[in-house]
Order: sequence, then structure tokens, then C-alpha cells
Amino acid sequence: MKRLILEILLVLGLGGAGAFGYMAHKKGAESGAQLAELTEKAEAAEKKVEETSEELEKLQKDAPPLQAKALQLEALREALVNGETLRDLEAAYKKEKTLSPERHAGLGALRLLTKGGDDPATIEAFKKALDAADWGSRRNLICASQKALASAGQDVKVLSECLPQGVSKMPEAEPKDKSADKAGQGDKGKDGKKHTHWGYEGEMGPDNWGKEFAMCGRGRSQSPVDIRGPFEKTKSVVTAAYQNGPLRIINNGHTIQVNVAEGSKLRIDSMPYDLLQFHFHRPSEETVDGKPSAMVAHFVHKNKEGKLAVLAVLFREGNENPGLKQLWEHAPKKEGPEVAVEGVNFNPANLLPRELEFWSYDGSLTTPPCTEGVKFFILKTPVNIAREQVEQFPFKRNARPVQPLNGRQISAS
Ligand SMILES: [Zn+2]
Repeated sequence: MKRLILEILLVLGLGGAGAFGYMAHKKGAESGAQLAELTEKAEAAEKKVEETSEELEKLQKDAPPLQAKALQLEALREALVNGETLRDLEAAYKKEKTLSPERHAGLGALRLLTKGGDDPATIEAFKKALDAADWGSRRNLICASQKALASAGQDVKVLSECLPQGVSKMPEAEPKDKSADKAGQGDKGKDGKKHTHWGYEGEMGPDNWGKEFAMCGRGRSQSPVDIRGPFEKTKSVVTAAYQNGPLRIINNGHTIQVNVAEGSKLRIDSMPYDLLQFHFHRPSEETVDGKPSAMVAHFVHKNKEGKLAVLAVLFREGNENPGLKQLWEHAPKKEGPEVAVEGVNFNPANLLPRELEFWSYDGSLTTPPCTEGVKFFILKTPVNIAREQVEQFPFKRNARPVQPLNGRQISAS
């Protein structure tokens, strides 16, 4: 019996020891797990701190240039803040009858810096710059003005060409009317890059240009027009002094354009105009007594005051045109950047008829933004173009329809 009790006690005792041992073990394991968890958390926190400080370091690295930029801007603003420069410029502008788009944009930039984007005159200045600039020769200016207006919260569409690569749109610049993004010439090209937001057919055709480019819709002196008598006789004389120069040619998605080096001039009476570029339309935009020609070349000139004059040369189907032959050989079939053709010179005079008798009227650019104040001289004598040469032109139709004269007088030399 004694032995039995001892045995029981022993078992109990051992069991107790075992139970105690188990409990102790469990406690140890628990705290071990807790410790492990804590360690893990600490490690994660440490890592986070490391990452954050790395980010901070990065930020600090980037900050100095940003700070420098902010300081520059601040300095610029302070230099201009008393308004003297602005008043000076505005007074100078008032003396001149017409302002170049560059000056409008400059005025806008000054006002943006000193008065901010809420200032109506800031908005007005950029809008005027936009109205007065033509896409061909003043792309940067148009981009700058569109961005400035968009940044000032104006409902302005920033053309995709104006945005940095990889940025497809500027959210605040989205138009209310999305029609321009639908199918048509303005849709995405093969390269995935968006083309400009106007074309010659469908929703982006000439009837809708005015939605995006106000002057195209509300202008009262628009081009092209139907040339039809009676004409007012003019004594004005036009002479062309065009020069041979390196061939730079571009397919800009709307036409084939040749950009001309400095030196080629047109004289209207005694006033010299520099030839900037010439480009083509098929069929001719101008009609004579209601009839279009096969094609037309527009020679675009600008004088020192920034006034534009266009000389239009009509092409009539007939013999091959040797000047065009040379151009068409190098004209890019697809839209793309300007091509400087190595070792090839071209003289724009090769496309002119011998006689420079003309019809003349005051009009506009025939493409957006349809800027007015452009003098047109349409040569009465057409030049030849072979039917195949018309067909080689990569645009089937790129002509704006004729616009109402609204009381304008056409004169004839
Ligand atoms: Zn044109």
C-alpha cells in the first residue's frame, strides 16, 4: 500500500514536473514567437526608415535645382513687379497699329508673371498671340500660348504636338467637345502619335475648324474666295526675286511644304517680303468663275512688320512640270519631320509663270488658325502640271472651300 501511494505520488510528482516543464516550455515558445515578431517589426521599421531616408536624400538632391528655379522666378517677378516694364511695353505696343504674335505672347508672359493667370489681360494677350500666329512658322509660339492659357484654367485645347513626349493629354485642357478625337485624319497614326486636330473631311473638316480655332468660324475676311469680276483696277506691281537654295521639304500631314532659306524676296510695290515657305493644295483652293484648277502653290511671305502675303500659282493639267518633278522626287509620302535633301538645290522661281499679272484681295490663312490680315495675289497665268504629277501628290484633297467675300473687293492688275 505504502508502495502504491509512493508510486502514485511519484507519478503525480513526475506528472507535475512534466506539466510544469510543459508550461515553462510553452511560455518560452510564446515569448520566442513574440520576440521574433517584434524583431521582424523592428527590422521592417528600420527598412522603412532606410527607404524613407533614401527618398529624402533623393528629394534633397533634386531640391536645389527646383529651389534655384523658384528663386529665379521670384527674382524675375520682383524685377517686373512695379509694373514699369509692363507699362513701357504696353505704351510701345499702343503706338503700333498691328502687333506681332510674338509681342502678344511676350506681353502675356509678362502679365502672367506679374499679374497672374486670373488677370483678364493676361488671357487676352495669349489669345491674341494664338489668333495671330500661323501653325507653319510659329509652332513654338502657339504651344506656349496654349499652355499658358491652359495653366490659367482657360478652356483651351493644347495640341498634342505641344506636349512633351509620353504625355498624351493635358487634363485641364480637354475640350468639352471630344469630336476631334474621333476617327478621321486627326486620329492616331501608325506611330501611335496623335496628329493635329483638323483635317479636310468629316468631323474635323473645314466646317468644324471654328470650334477649335475661333477665327476660322467667325472671321469676316477669310480665304480662299471665288475670283469673279467686276474687278477694281490696281496699279500695284509684284516682282519676285527668288533664289536657289538647299531643298528642305516636309510632309506635315496636311500638305507638302518646302521651307525656304533666307534671301528669296517678293516685292509688292516697293515693300519687300521674305519668302518663308511654299506648299500645295489639290485641287486649287481659289476658284476662278467658280472653277477650281488641278492644284495651286501658295508662296507664303512675311515683311518686317510681320504682315503676311501669299502668292498663289495655279496649276492647269497639261505638260509635265520640271520644277515639280524635282520636288516630287524628294517629297515624303508620309507625314514626318522636315527632310534636308543633301546636295539638292531648288529655286522657287522655277514654279512661277513668266507673267506676274494678278488678282488681289485681303484674306486669311486657309488653314487653322485662319489668321486674317493676309494679302493674296493670285497669278492670272497658270503653269502646267501633268495628270500623273497631280496623282503623285500624296493628298487626295486638301483644299478649304471658298469663303464669302462679305463686301471685300477683288482687284486686278
Ligand atoms: Zn495654302
